[in-house]
Amino acid sequence: MEVIKLENVSKIYGNKVKVTALNNINLSIEESEFVAIVGPSGSGKTTLLTIMGTLAKPTTGKVYIYGQEVTSLNDDALSKIRNSYIGFVFQNYNLIDRMSAIENVELPLIARNVPRKERREKAMDILNSLGLGDLAYKKPTELSGGQQQRVSIARALVQNPKIILADEPTANLDSKSGETVMKTFLQANRDFKTTVVIITHDQDVATYAKRKVHIKDGTIEKIE
Ligand code: ADP
Ligand code: ADP
Repeated sequence: MEVIKLENVSKIYGNKVKVTALNNINLSIEESEFVAIVGPSGSGKTTLLTIMGTLAKPTTGKVYIYGQEVTSLNDDALSKIRNSYIGFVFQNYNLIDRMSAIENVELPLIARNVPRKERREKAMDILNSLGLGDLAYKKPTELSGGQQQRVSIARALVQNPKIILADEPTANLDSKSGETVMKTFLQANRDFKTTVVIITHDQDVATYAKRKVHIKDGTIEKIE
């Protein structure tokens, strides 16, 4: 089953001065895959991920999520697609400092009106399954960068997304913490069959993925 499919996707930024960020990308991601998008700075990785995540639309081309063409959908419909299928993980964790780890993990469930008790149980379950139970009542400022990123992965997973999209999740971490973060993605991929797509410019980080898509100047250079 194809989870994400990009068909002849191009993205051009700007009006007067045009920048071709993506040039005719064709790419399919299958269910339960672990894919790394690799390439130098400015090659189009973030643009590609935001289009895969329906946060941005291509200038031309089509995007399918579970077979549904999404470029023609309005913002409400896109937001539903994201809520049903996609969890995001960012470079800077995006945790709320005044809330404990478990409260951060509960946030997506509050947005969905899940009752308080069920929310707490679900958040604790996912923290436990990722080996983060001991950190539940700590604030982000009391956690290492790697721990914060793993909490943000728990927050992405608490809604049982089919897909996790992560933009440079280890960019701000030393290699040891980066390793624990990548192992957490591997675990989600293995235990929950979550499709994982990560962007990285780090070749070592990319080795965790089963498939590597190399992009350069907005085109796919090779897939290995
Ligand atoms: P990467 O994630 O690989 O660093 P990006 O997708 O961020 O690459 O950027 C690809 C190209 O598009 C770069 O030349 C970048 O400067 C340009 N770009 C990205 N976002 C914008 C934007 N909002 N407006 C104009 N140009 C942009
Ligand atoms: P970059 O890698 O260029 O620094 P980020 O990783 O912060 O960018 O974000 C990637 C994309 O996701 C951006 O287009 C940004 O607007 C969007 N984004 C960032 N945070 C959120 C969020 N909490 N919810 C939805 N979209 C977000």
